[in-house]
Amino acid sequence: MSVTTIAADQSVCAHLSVLGRDVTVPLVTGGEVTYAALDYAASAPALQRVWDDVAAYAPYYGSVHRGAGYLSQLSTDLFENSRVAVAEFLDCREDDQVVFTRSTTDSLNLLAAALPEGCQVFVFETEHHASLLPWRDARVTYLDAPRTPGEAVRTLERALADRDPYGPALVCVTGASNVTGELWPVRELAAAAHAHGARIVLDAAQLAPHHPVSVRELDVDWVAFSGHKLYAPFGSGVLAGRADWLTGAEPYLAGGGASRKVARRTDGGVDVEWHTTAARHEAGSPNVIGVYAIASACKALTEAGFGDLVAREQYLIGKVREGLAEVPEVKVLSLFGDEAPRVGVISFVVRGWNSSHFAAALSAEYGIGVRDGLFCAHPLVRTLLGSDPQDVGECGAPDGGTTSLNAIRVSFGAGTPD
Ligand code: PLP
Repeated sequence: MSVTTIAADQSVCAHLSVLGRDVTVPLVTGGEVTYAALDYAASAPALQRVWDDVAAYAPYYGSVHRGAGYLSQLSTDLFENSRVAVAEFLDCREDDQVVFTRSTTDSLNLLAAALPEGCQVFVFETEHHASLLPWRDARVTYLDAPRTPGEAVRTLERALADRDPYGPALVCVTGASNVTGELWPVRELAAAAHAHGARIVLDAAQLAPHHPVSVRELDVDWVAFSGHKLYAPFGSGVLAGRADWLTGAEPYLAGGGASRKVARRTDGGVDVEWHTTAARHEAGSPNVIGVYAIASACKALTEAGFGDLVAREQYLIGKVREGLAEVPEVKVLSLFGDEAPRVGVISFVVRGWNSSHFAAALSAEYGIGVRDGLFCAHPLVRTLLGSDPQDVGECGAPDGGTTSLNAIRVSFGAGTPD
């Protein structure tokens, strides 16, 4: 990558040549380049502590569970201690398993692949696609968008009451919406699920970076989250929770590391004895640095606690919402209403503006990086915008017309300045 044009005192764009393609990156200048990254819900900047830990470990990485050498021993040790750090962060039960994956999407697909025979799945249509789509090979019931947390619980209870009471069932719910930032009544939904003999998995991709998540207190069966939203770099995720469905399933990937014993049979085939620990679903050489980074972020958050983070974020939410309320053309998207508790994720549309153009202008003219689109939650955003584009003043359509809708999202978290 080469930087071909940056005028430090006046330019608003850097023209980069990346792998032979011309790319224009908006910058705001004024002596120093400043850029407000308000897209934490997509990927949050890593904590300094995480970068420091990763930098200290990086020269020494080695492959895990496979070597007698020092680097391998060190890496194995750090890798297994990372499980302990994640289990502590999530306040897991004694016998829960912590499986390292690539992301929340990967974690939920792993669980989907481990569903017992005949399992029924219940999921609200409001979910992120990562928690909406992996279950399509199972018997899925998609639940309508509720308009209050209480309605969410009642909707789930009604659906579960109608289910086959003897078969296995799973409820999948997000803790905090990646569109509205609103908190879902996870404890109540877990109680409803368990009262009807179902299990529940919590998509904590947006909750874990902003709030403590206690598996025990919430009484959820599994939790999934991603490192890159939890102030660690890309490449690692977690599925933590009950061991039985995981050990009862075929390995997510077949290969070394997942298998304890492999032998040729006399008939020419191969017999495999798979691990019954988390390693069963971690075949191949794992992303040791990514795992170390996610554990470092978990440790940093466990040690710091969420008190200051939550307080600061609520202050910022208030400021952003107040500012948006002053602009009559702005409509903030909300499922549960203005008073609902929420994390630092706010989506809105601006009457008369195409959301993509608006987001591009924020970046180019003000150095504010936000996200535009449907945020991988198409059914939810469509519900929030209403089926009639006139409701939102023909805004949000990529072509400035009314053919499709999208919105703008501002999100923040640990370390966001005023
Ligand atoms: N769940 C929610 C609520 C999300 O916001 C996201 C990502 O935006 C995901 C799941 C998927 O996370 P990942 O892309 O890290 O797999």
